[in-house]
Amino acid sequence: MSSSSTPAAPAPSSGLTKVEQAKADLCGLDLQPQLAELAAAGWDSLDEATLTIRLKWMGIFFRPVAPGRFMLRLRLPNGVVSAEQLVLLAEAVDRCGEHGSADITTRQNLQLRGLLFEDMAPLLEAMERVGLTSRQSGHDNPRNITGNPLAGIDPEEIVDTRPLVQAIQARLFQPDGPRTRNLPRKFNVAVGGAPDSFLLHNDLAFLPAHHAGELGFTVMVGGFFSAQRNELAIPLGLWLRADQLPDFALTVLLHFEQNGNRKLRNKSRLMYLIDDLGLETYRDTIKAAYGALAGGEAMASLQPHDGTHLVTRAPRDGLGWNAQAQEGLGWMGLHVPMGRLDAEGMLALAGLARQYGSGELRLTEAQNALIVNVPEASQEALLAEPLLQRFRPDPGHLQAEAVSCTGNAYCSFALIPTKSTAQELVEELERRVELPHGVRTHWTGCPNACGQPYMGQIGLMGAKTRKDGEMVEAVKIFLGGSMDADPRLAELHDKGVPLSDLPDVMEQLLVDRFGARRRE
Ligand code: SF4
Repeated sequence: MSSSSTPAAPAPSSGLTKVEQAKADLCGLDLQPQLAELAAAGWDSLDEATLTIRLKWMGIFFRPVAPGRFMLRLRLPNGVVSAEQLVLLAEAVDRCGEHGSADITTRQNLQLRGLLFEDMAPLLEAMERVGLTSRQSGHDNPRNITGNPLAGIDPEEIVDTRPLVQAIQARLFQPDGPRTRNLPRKFNVAVGGAPDSFLLHNDLAFLPAHHAGELGFTVMVGGFFSAQRNELAIPLGLWLRADQLPDFALTVLLHFEQNGNRKLRNKSRLMYLIDDLGLETYRDTIKAAYGALAGGEAMASLQPHDGTHLVTRAPRDGLGWNAQAQEGLGWMGLHVPMGRLDAEGMLALAGLARQYGSGELRLTEAQNALIVNVPEASQEALLAEPLLQRFRPDPGHLQAEAVSCTGNAYCSFALIPTKSTAQELVEELERRVELPHGVRTHWTGCPNACGQPYMGQIGLMGAKTRKDGEMVEAVKIFLGGSMDADPRLAELHDKGVPLSDLPDVMEQLLVDRFGARRRE
């Protein structure tokens, strides 16, 4: 690769790592005005740092397994997407022909695959016109902010997370004033608004909680998964009012930007900084920084809190027909196998959302889609739509709760083809056994753990092992992850089951530990 189109990175002389040097030389955000020009010169004229690092500040990902075909990761705050937005994205995927697809991610987000570099500038402009952005969705940035996928329609809602998530995103990316452009590492933020938990793997999570009879949020910090270490977020010991969330989140991010570890990327997530400072010192430092940003009065209103909160159970799957908080309306939750969509499926989902609902969809962390605001009277007609044979409202117990990372079709780290292996296996197991309830299986192609294997009741991680003297594709199996009132991470159960043995091993596990009954 030459470096004709972008400034060449000087040899690291400052003691910075290669990645930090690239970010210090030029922020990817500053390349956006030149995107069309860079595309005209061709993606293969980009210097390596721009191709593999800086483009991610615009949500654009070079994929070494498919050179020339790029991925675009959006931001969909709280997983809300309109039919109009989905149609635009479907048309972009459709233009990619056989290369095009989209994935619903475990952050209630969408990523489009198979795009040409020259399509990016016009697509980003078209996205902006319909209120979409892909800004800072990859690499060392605050990732898509998640919230209750049922916000605003949930009969069990504690607080509507949509305006809070929007306000936090707006504050983090405000055009004037302090904002985050160069974090030491990625950073996940979530806001809880219902009793369902899927929150503690975030670096920063706000969980609804009472203080002195008032509803607000307790702050949890430091959750993350990686190849080296996995942690659930811990209570920071502070309670905030809802209106304090945006400034507080910005404070935490700015402090992380200034103080996080930039020397060792595998020790740079927020929990390592908390470890270094000690929780009490970290809390006091954040309080003072919040006061400096938001004013002394705001700081004085932060309350000490023991971390007790209203998030008490494993998340609902939201599938099938469900009555909304609004009388006479419901949502239809549809299972998207492994979260994988094509243009046709996206267009059909958008069409049903317009025809039967209010033209809005929600994406869940379990990689499914919900059509919302459907009149009860339309329920039967919607159930009879052909698309619901493909995206079923009533999948089997295993299918409903199976989550998977990308796998080796698009990710060069993958040790196994994650999505296809997972889909084939859950189908096979549902032929073999009957389950009395759902079992959450989380699939991930490598130790990077994007598929969150530690959150699964069963976690499966791509691996290699020996069988009959040969190295073969395999999985490590983790058991015991729970997101209920007593959250805990799954632990290693088996360090190498060949894929060819997996159906029998999983069948036995489901019978022994999850009450499955073998079909006759
Ligand atoms: Fe790729 Fe590994 Fe992440 Fe899966 S877990 S998407 S294989 S890096």
